[in-house]
Amino acid sequence: MGRLEGKNCIITGAAGGIGLETAILFAREGANVLLTDISGPALEKAEAKVKELVPEVKKLETKITDVSKEENVKASVEHIDSWGGVDVMFNNAGIMHGDDADAIDTPEKIWDLTHAINVKGVWFGSKYAVISMRKHGKKKTSIINTASVVALVGAATPQLAYTASKGAVLAMTRELAMVHAREGFRFNSLCPAPLNTPLLQDWLGDDKAKRHRREVHFPTGRFGEAIELAQAVLFLASDESSFVNGTDFLVDGGMTKCYVTPE
Ligand code: NAD
Repeated sequence: MGRLEGKNCIITGAAGGIGLETAILFAREGANVLLTDISGPALEKAEAKVKELVPEVKKLETKITDVSKEENVKASVEHIDSWGGVDVMFNNAGIMHGDDADAIDTPEKIWDLTHAINVKGVWFGSKYAVISMRKHGKKKTSIINTASVVALVGAATPQLAYTASKGAVLAMTRELAMVHAREGFRFNSLCPAPLNTPLLQDWLGDDKAKRHRREVHFPTGRFGEAIELAQAVLFLASDESSFVNGTDFLVDGGMTKCYVTPE
């Protein structure tokens, strides 16, 4: 307990699978938490859930934010100026669109939408976090940007816009980590393997073949759970990871290291 005591944390996409589990852990560990998401009703439910599970949470507020809109992100970061500025920024919001496909069939508007949220959203979040950290004289902060294993390994089940967007998150985060290292602002990418969250599970539906095509690559034989990612985010957010910077932090059950899975 208390691993984030007194730290002001913003989570984007906080009403979704990984975002909400992370919010619960952050609150338990003593953080002040601003939940942001594009969906107002989902955000209300998320806030109620955190309050129910962690009634002792210090500060918990919400702000509807579309991360692809610069003014929205600026306003959500400035919202916690009165708390003393940002210590931890978790740029987690992302989409994987159903019409995202291969080089031939991906519509340009789906490419643009995916990149506006998954890449530009992470840039805006990083930008306003840095502005806030400088303004408030922070010396020891953490920005965590969500990429994916598809940024590291190729998949013959293409979602080209999504994959390219997550590759951009890795490259951008690495560079930000170098630029801001001497200021004490750490940047790391989180690389999750497929998980049991709405993002993937709604898309897979009850198509057993589609599901098996992915599950077979896990040495563990299963998808990950959002809480398993949230635990990694907590480590990256806390001072326990003070010498972890610019890394592609994999949480994948060994999937990207696997040639043949156990029978
Ligand atoms: P999710 O779909 O459960 O939650 C995503 C949340 O983001 C939702 O609450 C949604 O309302 C919100 N959101 C969507 N567009 C937004 C926007 N423009 N602005 C602000 N919020 C917006 O997803 P998840 O599984 O929790 O995924 C979180 C992150 O992890 C995403 O970046 C995703 O790409 C990444 N990821 C997920 C998996 C997986 O298998 N679930 C694997 C690798 C990476």
